[in-house]
Amino acid sequence: METIQKKTGSIGVTTENIFPVIKKFLYSDHEIFLRELVSNAIDATQKLKTLSSVGEFKGELGDIKVSVKVDKEAGTLTVSDHGIGMTAADVEKYINQIAFSGAEEFVNKYKDTANGIIGHFGLGFYSAFMVSKKVEIRTLSYLEGAQAVRWECDGSPAYVLEATDKKERGTEIILYIDDDSKEFLEQTRIDTLLKKYCRFLPVEVESDGKVVNSTEPLWTKKPSDLTDEDYLKFYHDLYPGQDDPLFWIHLNVDYPFTLTGILYFPKIHNNFEITKNRIQLYCNQVFVTDSVEGVVPEFMMLLQGVIDSPDIPLNVSRSYLQSDASVKKISGYITKKVSQRLEEIFKANRNEFEEKWDDIKLFIEYGMLTDDKFRDSALKFTLLKDTEEKYFTLDEYKTLIEGTQIDSEKKAVYLYTTDMTAQYSYIEAAKSKGYSVLVMNGQLDSHFVGLLESKIENSRFVRVDSDVIDNIINHGEKKETNLTPSQTEMLTNIFKSQIPSVEKADFLVQFEAIKGNDNPVTVTQNEFMRRMKDMAAMQPGMNFYGELPDSYSLVINTEHPLINRIKSDAVTSIGDVIDKIYSELSIAQSNLAKVNGDVKDSKPSEEQSSQIKELQGTIDTARAEITSKSVNFANSNPLIRQVIDLALLSSGLLKGQELNEFVKRSVSLL
Ligand code: ADP
Repeated sequence: METIQKKTGSIGVTTENIFPVIKKFLYSDHEIFLRELVSNAIDATQKLKTLSSVGEFKGELGDIKVSVKVDKEAGTLTVSDHGIGMTAADVEKYINQIAFSGAEEFVNKYKDTANGIIGHFGLGFYSAFMVSKKVEIRTLSYLEGAQAVRWECDGSPAYVLEATDKKERGTEIILYIDDDSKEFLEQTRIDTLLKKYCRFLPVEVESDGKVVNSTEPLWTKKPSDLTDEDYLKFYHDLYPGQDDPLFWIHLNVDYPFTLTGILYFPKIHNNFEITKNRIQLYCNQVFVTDSVEGVVPEFMMLLQGVIDSPDIPLNVSRSYLQSDASVKKISGYITKKVSQRLEEIFKANRNEFEEKWDDIKLFIEYGMLTDDKFRDSALKFTLLKDTEEKYFTLDEYKTLIEGTQIDSEKKAVYLYTTDMTAQYSYIEAAKSKGYSVLVMNGQLDSHFVGLLESKIENSRFVRVDSDVIDNIINHGEKKETNLTPSQTEMLTNIFKSQIPSVEKADFLVQFEAIKGNDNPVTVTQNEFMRRMKDMAAMQPGMNFYGELPDSYSLVINTEHPLINRIKSDAVTSIGDVIDKIYSELSIAQSNLAKVNGDVKDSKPSEEQSSQIKELQGTIDTARAEITSKSVNFANSNPLIRQVIDLALLSSGLLKGQELNEFVKRSVSLL
């Protein structure tokens, strides 16, 4: 039996007193001391089990539960185990020297980045001093004939190490809780912490008469031994009160790194939930954190579940974690697994995949937009949904529209709607031509459309209301309008004068000969401008586009009987006058062009200057006359305003006072 002389000494550190430093730097995360002490107790127990299994320890293992006891009266919190224990020499080596020098090194290294160390392993046993004024160790080694020892330290580098009379094998760590950490003497607080950090530890942990953990959590088992019910139950244990998840993935690798876990695809109802329930990161079943930024790709943050890996370096700062090579590998592996699993489900059960598509779409699009590797593999199972609720793969859809939706430049035109109600009439117009319209109303769809366009060769994505349908898909057989230039000038003025003012909107008048029974007037919005504005709305710094008014086109269908009526009324009443002014205008314009041509880059002569001035005057006067004659005519013809308002109405732009006037005018016209 070894004999131990009572010994006092000074712990070998250079810092005068390391404990204030420990307390200060780990201030906001004091609670992790419990995780550290319980993990040490578990380690000691596991080591003993290993020794026993290889025959190096021949005694009885007995009850190997780890216990956490609160004694409020004595002001102590005790973590005890029946593990390998420590001899006096072990305490010297592991507690006095190694652990302490480790702690000092750690604090020195990170004293400038206090935040970086919070929540990470590293201080181990000494984190006990974050909450204690004194720490006592009572321990008896498993080695035959070992002498029990007691170690005590009050937070100064001085310690006491002496023989004691502990009978049971194992270690007791007794914390004399500091006055400002009294919360850790509350059983409820301890229960909460145990639930958070110790819930899945591999050795039973008991507190207040109850076992707090399940020692074989689902992710440690073989997938082939598990049923759907097992996975669902585990999910609901982790995230109570949630709907069933859509899918799950059981991760299991042991080369080139060790990683296990289960990831669930939750049903996402709103953005708030996304940040609420996150993936939990474990290290050998010890909870580490639920902020997994850097460990999993960003889009995976929408998933839930657990990842357990001893290979994720935990005692380092977050920014280091993100650039760590093995963490990058892990992240890449998870991405690959997730896309493989999705492809599997897609292939094995297309119906199920389609049913869940709307729910997982956000996740997949987010992944494709932010992660190149995921994007390339996800293209295989990306689905497009049309307004008839039919789902297509990219290839299937391409085949579907190949015969019909090809424009004169041989590009496949992918029509889409962002709002089936608001864009109803445009969708109907497209359908009447036999075209298919995709539904792109998701949060990320405006970005996703751009991605698809770049990935699908020879394609063009166009919202159904971006132009009249025959212009969107122009088969090269477009009919010209039958308007003379003078009539175009007149009608432009007529229609322009009757457009009501719509907040933050500009209108351009445009004439098209659209066959069939299409609407007399249609409001369209240019695809390019609209996309720019959509993007601007989502990202700061593109204010230029954001501030611009929405610009719409008012497309007047010159084939429509109502428009023809307006046109012939106008021609009858002001046509001749306008023709006359218009020809004066044209002559003045061509004369002006001629003079300007003579002047070219040189300085105009006095004569030329006065000619230019005179011609410009003639042009201005002619224009003003055309405008005033047109406006007078338009004002006396309520039909014009009526057909414009109808167009605005069907694209949701007619509101407030203008809407009220429209209703009144309609009644009086009836
Ligand atoms: P780490 O656990 O990271 O090695 P710690 O400071 O927590 O660092 O512990 C230092 C060492 O002290 C451990 O490696 C172990 O050898 C010993 N030790 C700590 N707690 C126990 C315990 N409950 N039983 C046996 N040995 C222990």
